[in-house]
Amino acid sequence: MTLPTLGLVGLGKIARDQHIPAIAATGLFDLAAVVSPDGAVYEGVPTFRSQTEMLDTLPDLDAVAICTPPAVRHGLTAEALRAGLHVLIEKPPAATVSELQHLTEKAATVRRTLFTAWHSQFNPAVEETRRRLAEGGAIRSVAITWKEDVRRWHPGQDWIFAAGGFGVFDPGINALSILTRILPGPVFVRGAELLVPANRDTPIAAMLEMQAGYAVTHGSAAGVPMTADFDFRQEGEQTWAIAIVMADGTRLDLTRGGTRLAIDGVPTAEEPDTEYQRIYRHFHRLIADGACDVDARPLHLVADACLVGRWRTTDAFDW
Ligand code: NAP
Repeated sequence: MTLPTLGLVGLGKIARDQHIPAIAATGLFDLAAVVSPDGAVYEGVPTFRSQTEMLDTLPDLDAVAICTPPAVRHGLTAEALRAGLHVLIEKPPAATVSELQHLTEKAATVRRTLFTAWHSQFNPAVEETRRRLAEGGAIRSVAITWKEDVRRWHPGQDWIFAAGGFGVFDPGINALSILTRILPGPVFVRGAELLVPANRDTPIAAMLEMQAGYAVTHGSAAGVPMTADFDFRQEGEQTWAIAIVMADGTRLDLTRGGTRLAIDGVPTAEEPDTEYQRIYRHFHRLIADGACDVDARPLHLVADACLVGRWRTTDAFDW
């Protein structure tokens, strides 16, 4: 059986760490080309300087995975859809809400698969948490703590601190993608404090106050305090955790970026990191079904935090 051919656009950290190994491990796509503006190569695979050049040279390509920073995603995705390709977009799926809306409509018009790959949603522990919350039972509180050392995880990635680079929301949006996935109803940002280094454009830390909005179906959930504490200045132990306390006192701890769930301290679901293999299986299935999977909600929450937040200047940041 011939595999669908795939071009990988953007040959940076995530492409090398996760996409290429997952494509190889799942064996569902034939990695036919990579695009790297600075001419970086991946052994044995044709490399192009731009997506346009790749599309012109390989007109029969079936799909692309866009692994660039978010600022250039809209143009690349629109171009690929126009050329008749299916598109997987890394998170965050676009630089703005309207860009993502446009891509969603475009995919429907050209009848191609568009998949916003929120990798943190593809963990069995996240799915188990979603299942438990869907069973009902009022939630007392949700507290997200997402604190990492930007120098360790994003060394030299200046685009993160440039306008359109999301700053600390680059990792923080992963936590929000888990939140929107596990809650049985909508959530709203009610306030935020955003700390921007004096010499940069985007926040290095952000504190969000949110509220669930599904009182009608889930009893006392509306008004439940939900907080998120995002910080890029964390040295030592790194924390990617979501603590949920139910009204009956049961505590659900999603830790290690959503890969582990403990209930009242007892580990319940945990699996080694297979998020990206699940992502490629899902992309393959979506294409076969002629379907799209676009989840805009995490991007909405980031945009809302920027709208209602108080902006503060903090110490300059240098690598
Ligand atoms: P990165 O290491 O800076 O890589 C980005 C790559 O995109 C670079 O190789 C860059 O090439 C390329 N690029 C930029 N503009 C392009 C264009 N117009 N056409 C083709 N390629 C282009 O960044 P990253 O860490 O891989 O992150 C990329 C995205 O993945 C981000 O949105 C991030 O949130 C997401 N992500 C990252 C991680 C992680 O652990 N790093 C985890 C999950 C998701 P040049 O260097 O030649 O400009």
